[in-house]
Amino acid sequence: GIPISKKITVDRLEAILRETFGYASFRGPQAGIVEHVANGGNALVLMPTGGGKSLCYQIPALARPGVAIVVSPLLSLMRNQIQALEQAGVRAAQMSSAVDPASARRTAQAMRAGEVDLVYVAPERLATDGFQALLSETPLALFAIDEAHCVSQWGHDFRPEYLQVGEICARYDSVPRMALTATADGTTRADMAERLRLTDARVFLSSFDRPNITYTIVPKANPRRQLLDFLRDRMDQSGIVYCLSRQRVEETAAFLVSKGFDAIPYHAGMPTKQRSANQDRFITGDGVITVATIAFGMGIDKPDIRWVAHIDLPSSVEAYYQETGRAGRDGLPSDVLMMYGLQDIVQRRKMIEDGDGSIEHKRSLRRRLESLIAFAESADCRRAVLLRYFGERHPGQCGRCDRCLSPVATVDGTTDARKVLSAARRTGERFGAHHLVDILTGQRTDKVVQFRHDVLPTFGVGQDKPPEHWHHVIRQIAASGLLEIPADRHGLALTGEGLEVMRGGPEVRLVERGTFSVPAARTRKSPGTGRSGSAGPVGLAPPDLQLWTAVRAWRAAEAREQGLPPYIVFNDATLLHIVTHKPSDRRELARIHGMGDMRANRYGAALLPIIAAHGKV
Ligand code: ADP
Ligand code: ZN
Repeated sequence: GIPISKKITVDRLEAILRETFGYASFRGPQAGIVEHVANGGNALVLMPTGGGKSLCYQIPALARPGVAIVVSPLLSLMRNQIQALEQAGVRAAQMSSAVDPASARRTAQAMRAGEVDLVYVAPERLATDGFQALLSETPLALFAIDEAHCVSQWGHDFRPEYLQVGEICARYDSVPRMALTATADGTTRADMAERLRLTDARVFLSSFDRPNITYTIVPKANPRRQLLDFLRDRMDQSGIVYCLSRQRVEETAAFLVSKGFDAIPYHAGMPTKQRSANQDRFITGDGVITVATIAFGMGIDKPDIRWVAHIDLPSSVEAYYQETGRAGRDGLPSDVLMMYGLQDIVQRRKMIEDGDGSIEHKRSLRRRLESLIAFAESADCRRAVLLRYFGERHPGQCGRCDRCLSPVATVDGTTDARKVLSAARRTGERFGAHHLVDILTGQRTDKVVQFRHDVLPTFGVGQDKPPEHWHHVIRQIAASGLLEIPADRHGLALTGEGLEVMRGGPEVRLVERGTFSVPAARTRKSPGTGRSGSAGPVGLAPPDLQLWTAVRAWRAAEAREQGLPPYIVFNDATLLHIVTHKPSDRRELARIHGMGDMRANRYGAALLPIIAAHGKV
């Protein structure tokens, strides 16, 4: 290890955070991570989207001597990261198929001389003999493996090129290495640590809560009408509409355009050129809407996506979490809406049955879909159900979901819950929902007879209600954590809380089947009516609104001139801080959230007069 005297202190790391990146303090586990890695430790960083993973390797990269190697799966991600670092005055470069031989040679030279701070490299490039020779001549600061879940076959974005990354990095055993991901599910995480040879690295696990996202789930009635209602007051905001099919994508995009929105379609069936042109317009534009199939999203780190709407059901809770998670990376308030209808469930089930894959695979897809339906139908706080799904406890009453904002009417479901729990318990917690419902409704199916479940006291105790009622009860009590499906078995098992309820524990409140909450229209702070929609993300009042608009226009022009997306110049969180704090000189400007010394010096001359002109009311 590093001798005590040479230990890199948190103070030193915080100075880099302040001066280079313009942030006052570390957030959550960042301080612990940067201190550990800067002093030579290996780390596994599990943090939600928008949690601030980039700084976790960028700051140690600047604090340690030598060059940091960042393995990243997508050229578009690398490009944005490098542009942002350059704005902050950091020396960063990429090595990938996208750079011409001359600049690759220049980067290689800079690496050998230790004259670049971070080099982003695609995994396939890392594995080449040429790059490995270069690595052996380069003074190395650390390895950071971004989007590390790409190494796992369990994850959504498996990339075979990632399989070699762990072994290559581990060859330099004195160089610290870290893997970072926003993947929330445990199976993928364990697999990832194994494959990246990081099983003995220190694990930094953050909460996967996204506090700035407000969750709403509504029954699907008239999706276009519902979408327009949702988009009222959002004319100026970037967002994503997710649909199930290409046709729905095309139709919905055309519909939004006909209503005056700047909307573009995106799906895998489009010509590549048009698709990437659309993606570019979404990223560089202000207030563009993308209507997309799930093919869209990976590799988008646009921080100012203000909303995400699912007008069709996603495939699973994991998918829902990832897709909605694209909203609000900058930490400003963001809204997500999901429409959920019976027809969607039928269609999703059919897709699973018609798709290929083993019986085992299909069973797992069905189970995932059931969990999603349970999530949608539950009367509980959305955030609590969502986090519970990923194994995290949340007390509920979040105040930022439809269930908390306009609670749904519930009935006493304790007796029904006990009937279900007892059926599961008495059959050894080995059976799925269908079999339990057969028992409750008194069906003598082959399976019921075979296991002699028709002699149980619970057999037929639910005959007075239809099977759908019992499925509905099962989903809800699973969503509220009374029943669970253990990873190593297929059956529904009782949790500790479930056991308590069965033995006479607390009352269970359930939503009645077919009743849905009608979400109250969201009341906005600004009285701005209809489509003007330029109140910014938080409803600014007039004098500030003018300053917001003026700085935003300046930023758009500046970004165009530099050929960058506006948020790279600085993002909306920084813009908002300028508007609310009205810095009057360079020193104050440098202290604005996300500004930093480099930007303050570069943009001060242009920005300060704009602020001064709007500062006095
Ligand atoms: P991730 O890669 O985890 O999705 P990013 O690294 O893109 O997240 O960070 C998300 C946002 O949070 C960015 O706008 C980033 O500048 C900001 N951020 C990160 N760390 C801090 C911090 N300590 N204080 C304030 N803002 C931060
Ligand atoms: Zn809530």
